[in-house]
Amino acid sequence: MGSLASPSPHPGATTLRQELSGRGVRFALASFVDLHGVCKAKAVPIEHLEAMLAGSELFTGAALDGVPQDVSDDEVATLPDPASATVLPWRHDTVWMASNLQLKGQPFEACSRTILGRVLEQARQLGLRFNLGVETEFFVLRRNADGSLAPASAQDTLEKPCYDLRGLLDNLDWLDELVEAMNGLGWGVYSFDHEDGNGQFETDFDYANALVTADRVTFFRLMAREICRRHGLIASFMPKPFADRTGSGAHFNMSLADLESGANLFTPDDGSPGWVSELGRQFIAGVLRHAPAICAVIAPTVNSYKRLVVQGSMSGFTWAPVFICYGNNNRTNMLRIPAAGSRVECRAADSSCNPYLAAAMLLAAGLEGIREGLDPGEPNLVNAYQLSPEERLSRGLTTLPRHLGDAIEAFAADPLGREVFGDAMADAFIAFKRREWAEYHGTVSRWETERYLELF
Ligand code: GLU
Ligand code: MG
Repeated sequence: MGSLASPSPHPGATTLRQELSGRGVRFALASFVDLHGVCKAKAVPIEHLEAMLAGSELFTGAALDGVPQDVSDDEVATLPDPASATVLPWRHDTVWMASNLQLKGQPFEACSRTILGRVLEQARQLGLRFNLGVETEFFVLRRNADGSLAPASAQDTLEKPCYDLRGLLDNLDWLDELVEAMNGLGWGVYSFDHEDGNGQFETDFDYANALVTADRVTFFRLMAREICRRHGLIASFMPKPFADRTGSGAHFNMSLADLESGANLFTPDDGSPGWVSELGRQFIAGVLRHAPAICAVIAPTVNSYKRLVVQGSMSGFTWAPVFICYGNNNRTNMLRIPAAGSRVECRAADSSCNPYLAAAMLLAAGLEGIREGLDPGEPNLVNAYQLSPEERLSRGLTTLPRHLGDAIEAFAADPLGREVFGDAMADAFIAFKRREWAEYHGTVSRWETERYLELF
């Protein structure tokens, strides 16, 4: 776990170091993500920035989830992307940089950011740029003396807390700090609100090219947790912390633009409102074709599947998708075309996903739909939650995986996963997630003992 001896210089590194030093930055973080999309990093004193940018920081992948390496392998090195340099809004003396991993001077095949980069390159070859906006839903909670969790505000107890103004105002101190920080970084927050669960919030900021958005979502989780922690609160990106409340989705709003002109190619030629172009429909068809495998990546935890239900133990609907369908501005669709049109929203993704891997899978499937000129069929324009199983069958609506076990087997069975991830990452992902499912399935819950212990 040492450092590389003689790194080669990175153009612009010295200017960047001088600029950052001038702003009072003393430490730089060479950061990358593990399988879960969680940041891992080494810190270097700013005087070492040139070396860090040249790949001086080495990591033993075997110490992490989803950086598939043997303990006996050479270390991977971080190659930080200076364009992602972000001075921590809560600690101005430290700069964070998203990195790609390298092994022996070559791109490390199983690096999440590199995996997304590979699919973005396929889009680029087709003259396309992938634009992505992610809606961040999350819970902010305090832990009581007895260990139980509660919303930060004692008033946050409504049965229908969505858009609740009192709940929003009670949480405005940490929200203000978070939104100020996001806008200070140039993310363009355009709205934030109290979501549908007690203690649940959402921040919405400008879309950008998918790599930038994936970096931002990664950093956002780090930042939201840190800012809330400083207020004595826990920011949680667990998809479904409470069975009787809505879960935290991470809706992926996707479109393809012309690389040269930047024109949105999902805008229908005839300008029909609330819809997408033929290219957009082909993209949708590709995503629908691979939906079960994609689901394993965009909803990657045991807990994710407790969110993808119609109602569960809640009094109202979850607003989360259950069926593999696309359609209009209708929240029961997995792929929704919002009223403004010209983009596709994937509602199945949740806040626990690794945003690089999630974006890579969705884009790869969409590009396949475009290459093969696929047709997504008839849109679903009705409340899919209320269709009977017979009606769903006649409309060809199938169900998303019902649990992680199903999802991971769908991923393993679909060649797309291996194509996108590469062998090493596909194997690591499948093995890790099969273990995660088996471990969960190996537990006996309170619900089971209460139901069965004395039933027979
Ligand atoms: N929280 C819901 C979900 O789990 C989505 C609510 C909304 O439409 O914003 O996806
Ligand atoms: Mg929402």
